[in-house]
Amino acid sequence: MAASRIVIENCAIATVDADDTEYASGHVVVAGNRIEAVGAGAAPRDLDGVVRRIDGTGHLATPGLVNTHHHFYQWITRGLAQDHSLFDWLVALYPTWARIDEEMVHAAAQGSLAMMARGGVTTAMDHHYVHPRGAGDLSGTIVAAAAAMGIRFTLARGSMDRGTSAGGLPPDFAVETLDGALAATEETIDRHHDASPDAMTRIAVAPCSPFSVSTELLRQAAGLARRKGVRLHTHGSETVEEEKFCRELFGMGPTEYFESTGWLGEDVWMAHCVHMNDSDIAAFARTGTGVAHCPSSNARLAAGIARVPDMLAAGVPVGLGVDGTASNESGELHTELRNALLINRLGGHREKALNARQALRLGTHGGARVLGRADHIGSLEPGKLADLVLWRIDGIGHASIADPVAALVLGPPAPVTLSLVDGRPVVEDGRLTTADEDAIARTTRDQARRLARIAAAG
Ligand SMILES: [Zn+2]
Repeated sequence: MAASRIVIENCAIATVDADDTEYASGHVVVAGNRIEAVGAGAAPRDLDGVVRRIDGTGHLATPGLVNTHHHFYQWITRGLAQDHSLFDWLVALYPTWARIDEEMVHAAAQGSLAMMARGGVTTAMDHHYVHPRGAGDLSGTIVAAAAAMGIRFTLARGSMDRGTSAGGLPPDFAVETLDGALAATEETIDRHHDASPDAMTRIAVAPCSPFSVSTELLRQAAGLARRKGVRLHTHGSETVEEEKFCRELFGMGPTEYFESTGWLGEDVWMAHCVHMNDSDIAAFARTGTGVAHCPSSNARLAAGIARVPDMLAAGVPVGLGVDGTASNESGELHTELRNALLINRLGGHREKALNARQALRLGTHGGARVLGRADHIGSLEPGKLADLVLWRIDGIGHASIADPVAALVLGPPAPVTLSLVDGRPVVEDGRLTTADEDAIARTTRDQARRLARIAAAG
C-alpha cells in the first residue's frame, strides 16, 4: 500500500539544505514519515493517496527546530535565584533539586516539552543529572512524556559523583556513586536507545560537568558510550570560575582536561563553551566535537558570550539550546534564533557575527549535526524525515517584514500553524494536538508548589 501523502503549498520555504535553497512560493510533499518532494510553485496535481492538502499562503515552511541542551526538571524551579552567577545559582538550587521525584519530573518534562513543541521544536533533548535515591524511574518517565507528546527525543542520562567532600560543588546527598551512575546509565541505554535512522528515542551518556563529576566517571562514561555506540554530552567551559576550578584541581583548562579523559570527538557535544581560547576552538574543530550554544542562559547567569562566529569559521558543529528553565525561564527555542544573532553581534565580530540565515541554520541543521542526525533531520530535502514547521507570517507581528526568514528570526515569535514530527501533526493553529496545555499548566504549578513545600521543610 502506498504511503498516505500530505501536501503543503503556496508558502515561502527555507530548506536549510547545503546551498540554503529558498522558494518565495513553493510546495512540500510528505509521504508517510518522510519528505518526498520540495520545490517551487504548486505541488503536482496527480499525486495518489493525498489525505490532506494545506494552503500555506502567508506562511514560511522550515525544518523543525532541534534543541541540543535542556534540563526538563527545572520547569518546576523557575524564577528562583534570579540574580546569581552559575556557581552561586547551583549552590542555591541543589538542595531543592535533590528533593525531586518521579511525579514532579513527569510534570516538568511535560511542561518543558509542551513549551518547546508549540514553538516549533520537533527534536528535543533532556540532560537529566539529578537522581536522588528512591526518586523512582526518572529516565523512564521522561522518555514516556516525550513519546506521548510525539516529539523526537534524546535523553542524555546525566550523573554527578563529585560531592563537596571530594572538592566538588554539589552537596554529598545530591550525588550518585561512580558504579551506581555507570550501571544506571547502561541500563537506560539498554531499555530505551533506538539506533535506527527513524528513531523517536535516543540515549546519550552525560556526566554533568568537571566540577560535579570525578575524573574516573568521565573516563569510564566515555568508554561506556563508545562500547554501546551512543553519543556523549556534558557542560564545558561555561564560566571563568569553571576555568579556575580546572586549573587549580587538574592543572589545565577545561578543554585540555576533556581531551585527557577521552572527551573530544565527533560523538561528543558540549553545552556552552563560552570561555574558549583559539587552541580550544582548534581542538574542537580537529576532533569534530560539537557545541550547544545557549545565549539566553549565558546572559541570565552572566557567563559571557560564546565565540560562535569563530567556531563556525573553524568548522566546529554548533547547535542551539534552551538550557534548563531555571536559567532561561522562557523555555522556548525559536526565540534563541534571535538571541543568538543579537548576542553574538555584541562580540568582536559586530554586525558580521551571524546573519538571519546562519541563525536559522544553527537552530535546525546545526542542531541535527550536533546530535549526530543530520543525515535524516535538520533540512527540508527529499528522503529526510518529515519534521517541519509552518510559521504564520501574515499576522500583525510579521506581515510588514520584507523577508520571510528575517520575519522568523528578527521578528516577534511567529505563531505555529502546523508542526509535523515524523509526518504526524503535533501542533495545529498554535495548540498542541497531542497534549492538553491547560492541564499541563495546572499540574506543573501544583508540582512546583509541592517541591517548594518539601524543600522548605528540609
Ligand atoms: Zn545546562
